[in-house]
Amino acid sequence: MNTPVNNATGTRDSGLSQAVNGKSSGNSQPAIAVENIVKRYGNFEAVKGVNFSVANGEIFGLLGPNGAGKSTLIRMMTTLIPVTSGKAIVAGHDVSKDSDAVRRIIGVIPQALTSDQDLTVEENLSIYAKLYSVPRAQREKNITEVLEAVDLSKWRKAQTKTLSGGMRRRLEIARGLVHDPRIFFLDEPTTGLDPVSRIAVWEMLNNLKKSRNLTMLLTTHYMEEADRLCDRIAIVDHGTLVALGTPVELKQSVPGSNVVEVQFNREDPEWPTRLRKLSGVTDVQSQSAGVYRVLTSNGSQTTTQLVEMAASLGETLTSLSVQNTSLDDVFVHYTGRQLRDEQVKAVSFIMPPRPGAQP
Ligand code: ADP
Repeated sequence: MNTPVNNATGTRDSGLSQAVNGKSSGNSQPAIAVENIVKRYGNFEAVKGVNFSVANGEIFGLLGPNGAGKSTLIRMMTTLIPVTSGKAIVAGHDVSKDSDAVRRIIGVIPQALTSDQDLTVEENLSIYAKLYSVPRAQREKNITEVLEAVDLSKWRKAQTKTLSGGMRRRLEIARGLVHDPRIFFLDEPTTGLDPVSRIAVWEMLNNLKKSRNLTMLLTTHYMEEADRLCDRIAIVDHGTLVALGTPVELKQSVPGSNVVEVQFNREDPEWPTRLRKLSGVTDVQSQSAGVYRVLTSNGSQTTTQLVEMAASLGETLTSLSVQNTSLDDVFVHYTGRQLRDEQVKAVSFIMPPRPGAQP
């Protein structure tokens, strides 16, 4: 099992160093290998020497709060901005030395919706296929296939501005596939989507991975997205990779397998000390006045003792729940704070009017 890393260079992580050498994929060459990559804007280091590799056929997630450096990483890997130092190798090509070869082999879905609203779905795809020099005879077939893959076949002749936000996102994904790339980069693929459309996009990406044998690298600040979609996750914070592993490995790397969330009816500075003394407890995190998350290796025993303790002190519990460790706990463990506190704003883009609405 890969041990999750908790530093940027991966020196404490045998799994990571193996992955960078391409051994963990069972393939002579990983789809993506990033080695000690740095991006500086003037004196500011946005990416501070990050290492990871992505195996062929894997969905790999960069998870972190806004400003962590995820987009900067993806933009370097996709040749959009120069690398300050270090290397990114994509499908065997160095992004700094052979950017054209990299561009031919990748599909990129940027955060912003960029398809032309005044064109039809088909026209948007056709322009892209031409830009990528897809031979004329192949274009029609590719367009039909990608529309099928994203479930937009019956909207082929529709004007893009008549599509809903979720459908437009699917069109962007189809457009990124029209030249049949091997490696797909998606920057925040579901930001701005409603929960139903988000789940539909996850299902679609999973199906695409299998049916087209794609490798995917995506950035996200949604825990659930990383958990449900990604084979492995790299947690990025302040330009540094702080942990890397499968969702299960990451959760197992946090001491304690359950989280007891408790709310007392009154705040008391003694609560953390008392909670730490209960059996199985590995950490106590203060949430807000009187609310604590208690990480424990034995949820049921800790809960029983907690209730007994409160009763013996004559205190009342307002709420109590026991859950399994989540990626939230992983994030807190490696960064010292909660990802949901870091959410600032969703990327702003204008949702198109609903189908049939007057402009
Ligand atoms: P994320 O995608 O994780 O939200 P970004 O990669 O966009 O983070 O940004 C990482 C850091 O780099 C942020 O502090 C951001 O302000 C800074 N940054 C990004 N682009 C530039 C730029 N062109 N010039 C200066 N600083 C930048």
